[in-house]
Amino acid sequence: MRSPADFIATRASGVDASGIRKVFDLAAKMKDPINLSIGLPDFDVPDPAKQAAIEAIQTGQNRYTQTQGIAPLRERLRKDLSAEIGRDVGDVLITSGVSGGLFLAILATINPGDEAIFLDPYFVMYKHLLTLAGGKAIPIDSYPDFRFHPDRVEAAITPRTKLLILNSPSNPTGVVMTQQEVNAAVSLAKKHDLLMVSDEIYEPFLYAKDEGGRMKDESEKKSSDSSFILHHSSLPSAAKSYDRTIILRGFSKSHAMTGWRLGYAVGPEAIIAQMTKLQQYTYVCAPSPLQYAALAALDVDMSAAVAAYEIKRDIAFDTLSKKFEVVKPDGAFYIFPKSPGGATASAFVERAIAKNVLIIPGNVFSEKDTHFRISYATTDERLRQGCEILNSLA
Ligand code: PMP
Repeated sequence: MRSPADFIATRASGVDASGIRKVFDLAAKMKDPINLSIGLPDFDVPDPAKQAAIEAIQTGQNRYTQTQGIAPLRERLRKDLSAEIGRDVGDVLITSGVSGGLFLAILATINPGDEAIFLDPYFVMYKHLLTLAGGKAIPIDSYPDFRFHPDRVEAAITPRTKLLILNSPSNPTGVVMTQQEVNAAVSLAKKHDLLMVSDEIYEPFLYAKDEGGRMKDESEKKSSDSSFILHHSSLPSAAKSYDRTIILRGFSKSHAMTGWRLGYAVGPEAIIAQMTKLQQYTYVCAPSPLQYAALAALDVDMSAAVAAYEIKRDIAFDTLSKKFEVVKPDGAFYIFPKSPGGATASAFVERAIAKNVLIIPGNVFSEKDTHFRISYATTDERLRQGCEILNSLA
């Protein structure tokens, strides 16, 4: 007789979630840790979006929506994205988070044996979703600067390569691709006939560069007025110069709606149509009332939140760079320092946890175990405290 475990498909058993589980097990034993592990903003959903969600529920927007999402939200996103990208991006598919968009994009394009390239360190889901689809994940070592090195990427391209997945700003490094790097990625995609998948979930979290090493004036930094925000350029996106790009964005990070499960995808019509068909038989649609709320959220100015995160980035970098080898992030809310003294990240994380600071070892996001991820999405005070404790361990 088969035991329940015997019924498990290799598709499921082939996904290894042990790294992150180990961290959660350790975390469960901690009392009120300084938690620098969480990949979500520490602010709450903006009030106008909450109100719109309540109103949508109360006025009966509780049924299935069209598979592709509600028309006003799709139209608004099409208009905004087209203006940003500089061409009509076509119809927008509303997905159940960017996770949903990633799953559908991979299911729609990857045949068994097809290869997909992305930089290592990487967002964990890429590897596992590709495995689920029968594809092959090809992580490209981007250490120690975490930049896009075209020579390394090109060396990994084979006749089976189908996708080049970009993630800028990056989880877990916070690195933002420059225009030159994006151009190089586009050149490779053109030369080798690849589809680009651009995971831009952290798009609003872009920080000003200190031109010529000049530190910005403190008062300027703390102000949330728009003159400060104007330093921020828009995200260099492959979609601007390469129309065979699927852009994936969402509301989880930008509006702190991780539990609302809302994202969106745009790209070549033939592929979006297949993703829509697959959504019909998987997620059906994104949560109905929350789609109305997302529409309201688009009118909320989130620049003060981004400015607050830039200050957190500075606290984390300025403190940790005293003791750790670390790349200064230009976006998202993560920083990825190197473990001190050649220790494995897993060993260093255990020491940090013993001091009540929760961080994640790099092997959760990488083939290597040399760095650790900090999420600085917490209060400035907790962040300072946590970074000082880590410094004391270095
Ligand atoms: N892409 C990246 C790079 C992420 O970090 C995350 C969430 N941590 C996602 C996609 C998925 O986000 P969601 O499904 O909540 O939109």
